[in-house]
Amino acid sequence: MHTNPDVIVVGARAAGASTAMLLARRGHRVALLDRAEFPSDTISTHQIARSGVVQLARWGLLDAVLASGAPALRSVTFTAAGMSITRPIKDKAGVDLLVAPRRYVLDSLLVDAAREAGADVRTGVRVTEVIREDDRVCGVRGPDLELRAPLVIGADGLGSTIARAVGAETIEQRAANGAGVYAYYGGIPWDGIELIASAGALAGVFPTHHGEACVWVCMPADDFRRLRRHHPSREAALEAALLHHAPELSARLLAGHRRSPATGMSRLPNYIRRAHGPGWALVGDAGYHRDPVTGHGISDAFRDAELLADAVDAGGSDEDLAAYQRRRDAALREVFEITCALADYPPVPEFVALQKRLSVALDVEAEALGTTTH
Ligand SMILES: Cc1cc2nc3c(=O)[nH]c(=O)nc-3n(C[C@H](O)[C@H](O)[C@H](O)COP(=O)(O)OP(=O)(O)OC[C@H]3O[C@@H](n4cnc5c(N)ncnc54)[C@H](O)[C@@H]3O)c2cc1C
Repeated sequence: MHTNPDVIVVGARAAGASTAMLLARRGHRVALLDRAEFPSDTISTHQIARSGVVQLARWGLLDAVLASGAPALRSVTFTAAGMSITRPIKDKAGVDLLVAPRRYVLDSLLVDAAREAGADVRTGVRVTEVIREDDRVCGVRGPDLELRAPLVIGADGLGSTIARAVGAETIEQRAANGAGVYAYYGGIPWDGIELIASAGALAGVFPTHHGEACVWVCMPADDFRRLRRHHPSREAALEAALLHHAPELSARLLAGHRRSPATGMSRLPNYIRRAHGPGWALVGDAGYHRDPVTGHGISDAFRDAELLADAVDAGGSDEDLAAYQRRRDAALREVFEITCALADYPPVPEFVALQKRLSVALDVEAEALGTTTH
């Protein structure tokens, strides 16, 4: 256990475990805290965009993700206005596959990688406040812990305790009108990623472990609430949404079985928060949240974990952290704009044009990460 860590990271999933791993690999003494125990799930579908797969490959973790049984996804089938196009995943930025590991698998792998790198991982530990000396954050406190360090990183997700405790200013906020709902289905052959755009929704299939697929729909929260009112359960509402927006997929699901309850979230916020202050920094959803319609949160977390680790490794001064925020804000801009536009569910031709723009943006981001050297 590090009694005097250099850095405390609160939250040990996509953002926090990655940041802790990268810092520990570079010789920093890191305490990684999470109120959860691992392995455990979180509410999220889990397709990782090419840029996120590039990060896993660069960090030496992609083989472990594939060895966990998450299938290598080799194609994407996009359907709109009754037309389907299947495209292979091209070999770009050093990766020729995508992957959608369950979060209880991915997050545990990341936590293990952080521990192996030397991070002091403490789970089942809830942080309730930050400790300050003068105006500087210098530690965290919770019912079972008090720990001090020159830097506290909030990687504690949507509803971040650290962001609230430090009073991190929201620098940009957009409408929060979207919903994302999903369940796991098995007993059906899956062939790659599927995306189905229809008026007012995007549905999809992410094949994952155990021959199952995460089948999901993103749509305006008001529309899902209306559906939910007319159906006895969230599962029935999800299946009604799929029947309406993705009838061919809905028919295929009849040959298999739903293997989980339906879950999801509504009114997902779109915000960018200030990412640093005296003695603190934010990474992942704690500092930047976007609707899940673009399925980019895990990849954002991986990208920004490295930007933050670079800043801390450069000395972690207020200037270094300010540079981290500038780089994060520049890196997130294009996908944030596209996400907010998609989450407005414009007419299908416009929605499809945005998806094409997204595909270009994701390739540009992946290429940039693929050529980063450390
Ligand atoms: C419906 C839905 C679908 C999504 N689909 C995708 C997708 O397909 N692809 C994709 O890339 N992204 C997707 N996302 C987004 C993705 O889930 C998030 O962006 C990602 O999980 C952010 O990671 P994080 O590490 O910042 O936060 P989180 O994953 O939320 O982790 C935060 C951690 O902090 C811990 N914590 C919180 N408070 C405290 C505290 N006070 N003390 C100690 N620990 C604390 C929590 O226990 C948790 O383990 C989806 C999100 C939703 C809601």
